[in-house]
Amino acid sequence: MLSRARAGAPAPALPAPTRKVFVHTFGCQMNDADSERMAELLARHAWARTPHAEDADLILVNTCAIREKAEQKLLSALGRYREHKARRGTVIAVGGCVAQQEKERLLSRVPYLDFVFGPDNIARLPEMLERASRRERFAETGWMGSEEYLFPSADPEAARGRATAFVTAMKGCDNVCSFCIVPRTRGREVSRPFAEVVAECAALAGVGVREVTLIGQNVNSYAGGCAFPELLRRVAAVPGIARVRFTTSHPHDLSDALVEAFRDEPGVMPHFHLPVQSGSDPVLWRMRRDYTVEEYLERHARLLAARPGIAITTDFIVGFPGETEADFEASLALLARARFDNSFSFVFSPRPHTGAALRLGSSAEWVAVPREVAVERLERLQALQREVAGERMRAELGRTVEVLVEGPSGGEPGEVMGRTPENRVVHFSTAGRDVPAGAIVRVRIARAGGNSLRGDLAA
Ligand code: SAM
Ligand code: SF4
Repeated sequence: MLSRARAGAPAPALPAPTRKVFVHTFGCQMNDADSERMAELLARHAWARTPHAEDADLILVNTCAIREKAEQKLLSALGRYREHKARRGTVIAVGGCVAQQEKERLLSRVPYLDFVFGPDNIARLPEMLERASRRERFAETGWMGSEEYLFPSADPEAARGRATAFVTAMKGCDNVCSFCIVPRTRGREVSRPFAEVVAECAALAGVGVREVTLIGQNVNSYAGGCAFPELLRRVAAVPGIARVRFTTSHPHDLSDALVEAFRDEPGVMPHFHLPVQSGSDPVLWRMRRDYTVEEYLERHARLLAARPGIAITTDFIVGFPGETEADFEASLALLARARFDNSFSFVFSPRPHTGAALRLGSSAEWVAVPREVAVERLERLQALQREVAGERMRAELGRTVEVLVEGPSGGEPGEVMGRTPENRVVHFSTAGRDVPAGAIVRVRIARAGGNSLRGDLAA
C-alpha cells in the first residue's frame, strides 16, 4: 500500500526552546528513527532535547514489544522516572509497540503515567501534550488509513556532521510469522512514496551524510511507486550519497531483481541481513516463514554469486515450541554451512495473541521447550557464531579496505572508527591527519577481534 504523496515545505526557523524533553528508546532502528522524528517535531514547538531524565519537563519512552524482556525493562525504567514526576511534575508518556499493544491497560498498570500513544500517532504529539497539560489521561492508539498516513520527514539539520542516517522507506508488516507481534503493533504495510524517500536522502546528502540505510520491518516488499530494487538504484544515484544499505528483509521477498541490484549497483553495499530464524523445515513451517532451508540456502548462494565477498548476517530463534535437539542441531548445521558473518539470536518469547503463543502446549508439536534447555541451546549457537565470525574477521588481516569514517572511536585519543562496505567496524589512528566524519579512506587491517578490526591508514 502506498501512502499519499505530498508537497515538501521549507522548514520554518525553530523557536527558542523553553522546555526540555528526554527521549528513552528501546528496540530496533525503526524506533530510533521514530524517536528522532519525535524530538524534531517537539523542537518545532520549543522543546529542547536533554540527555538527562532528571532535568526533563517531559519524558518520552519509546518502547519495544518484540520480547517479554523488553516490556520488563520498560516497567523498571518507568519506576526510575516516577521520582522525577514526584519532584518536578515531569510529564511521562509511553509510545511505540508496548503502547500500541497495551493501550489503556498501561495507564491502569502505571498510575503515574500521563498518556500512551501508538506509532501512528507521533505527528499528534503537540496536541497530546496540550491535553496532558489539562491533566487528561488518555491512550491514542488508533491506526491511520494508508491513504491519510504521512511519513514524518527527517530534519536534515539534525544530521549535520554525521556520516550516516536512517531513512524510513515503509512501515508495518503484512506477514504472519507465528512468533511475531509486529503486525499487531505496527499495523499493515504502508510504503512511503519514492519521491519522498529520494528527496529526504538528497536533503541529508546536502548536510554531508554519505551513507543512508533504508528502513522498514519488511523493507524488500516496498511498493511506494516503484519496486525496492528500483528504489535502491534511485537512492544510489543521489549526488553525495556514496553508500546505500537497508534493513530488514524477509527471505521470500528476495527477488531476482534485488539480487541483480547487488550485482550491478556499486553504491548498494555488500551486506545483507537475511533473517533465517531456524535451520529446521518443520520449525520454519510452524513459524509460518514461507520458505524451506534449501530455498533459503539457494537465495543465499545467489547473493554470493552476484556479489562475491558479500557479508550475510541473520537472526535465529531457539527454543521455539516443539524444537527438538535434532531441529536445533539443524540450526547449528545451517550456521556452519552458511558461515554467517554474524547473527542475532534469541530465546523464543511467547507474545500475546500471536499464533505461536495461542498454540503453545496444545499438542506434542507445540510443546514448550524448558527455559534452561533453550538458554543452553542459545549459548551453543552463539559460541559457534563467535567461532565462525572470528575466522571471517581474521580473513581480513593484511587486506586494505575502504572505510567510511563515522567519528571518534571512543578509545585512544586521535583514533576514529568507521565501517567497511561489508559493515565491519574498523578502528584506526588518524596519525595526525584530518580525517573527519564522512571521509572515505583506505585502511590496512592489522588486527582482528571478535566484533571489530583495527588497522593503519594507508597512503
Ligand atoms: N522482519 C524481520 C524478519 O522477517 O525476519 C524481523 C524483524 S523482528 C523485529 C527482529 C527479530 O526479532 C526477528 O528476526 C526474530 O529473530 C526476533 N523475534 C521476533 N519475535 C520474537 C519472539 N517472539 N521471540 C524471540 N525472538 C523474536
Ligand atoms: Fe515479524 Fe518480520 Fe515476520 Fe513481519 S516478516 S511478522 S516483522 S518476523
